[in-house]
Amino acid sequence: MVTTERLYYSLKDYLRERYGRRVQKITVALPFTCPNIDGTKAKGGCTYCFSGTRPAHLEPYVPLKEQIEEGIKRAKRRYGEKLFFFVYYQSYSNTYGDYSYLKSIYDTVLEFDEVVGIDVGTRPDCAPEWVLDLLEGYANNGLEVWVEYGLQSANFKTLRLINRAHGVSDFVDAVLRTKRRNLKVCAHIILGLPYEDREDMLETGKLLASLPIDGVKIHPLHVIRNTKMAEQYLRGEFEVLSLQEYARRAVDILEILPQNVVVHRLTGEVEPDRLIAPDYCTYAKKQKVINAILEELKARGSYQGCKSAFNR
Ligand code: SF4
Repeated sequence: MVTTERLYYSLKDYLRERYGRRVQKITVALPFTCPNIDGTKAKGGCTYCFSGTRPAHLEPYVPLKEQIEEGIKRAKRRYGEKLFFFVYYQSYSNTYGDYSYLKSIYDTVLEFDEVVGIDVGTRPDCAPEWVLDLLEGYANNGLEVWVEYGLQSANFKTLRLINRAHGVSDFVDAVLRTKRRNLKVCAHIILGLPYEDREDMLETGKLLASLPIDGVKIHPLHVIRNTKMAEQYLRGEFEVLSLQEYARRAVDILEILPQNVVVHRLTGEVEPDRLIAPDYCTYAKKQKVINAILEELKARGSYQGCKSAFNR
């Protein structure tokens, strides 16, 4: 939980409390696509999306088992042997496939005793009941299962502008149906989307605070080369948040989120050669962003949940 030393409830703290040791995430990539790219919902994808947000170093055609083995080896070299792992299905929509394919890729983690959980990133309109049934089966057999839904903004006009091709109601529906089960929900939001002001971003935070989510990922909007958003940005149609502005908006959100919501992320990074703006969205500057948020919390004398009506 949040304390005077811990101004927000980080994923690292949550996992250490729960498992008594460091839990490392292994991010994997699979040859998924997305209904917002293949024409089922829309074409072209979200205007900021590049390769389904897959990190450049991940190769979706490497067999999944090899990706997990390699991730475990790498983490052990860095942090020692005493680790547990989560497998994170990150890029594209990792519930967008047929039953046998989805079962085969989730089943793969069962071959690894040290894997204690999975994170499945997807869209809120890609969570039919049979997918939730399948995922809940793993949770009922002892894995911790998180489903990560992208909302990005609670402003429908923004969602339309960035071509999300789903509504706020799809997100609420997915969260409520998922939380009827033995599954955890993490919501993704982006701060600094085109034409959004502080009130828009607060509204997004308030919606999350009022829903039974378990975790959140807060990202600053970052403009990536070869995307539709890059064209708009380079034409001068909107600006990105400065680091200080982002820290202020992120703290606005932390203040209204309940204290038991686990903060999985407070920034977003890409490789420098893919990034157009802002310049702080790189791996090298990740800690700088987190420090700016901590400084803002300290300067305000505030902490996660200090303005929440939903602390539980
Ligand atoms: S939903 Fe995700 S994968 Fe699909 S277009 Fe948007 S960002 Fe890309």
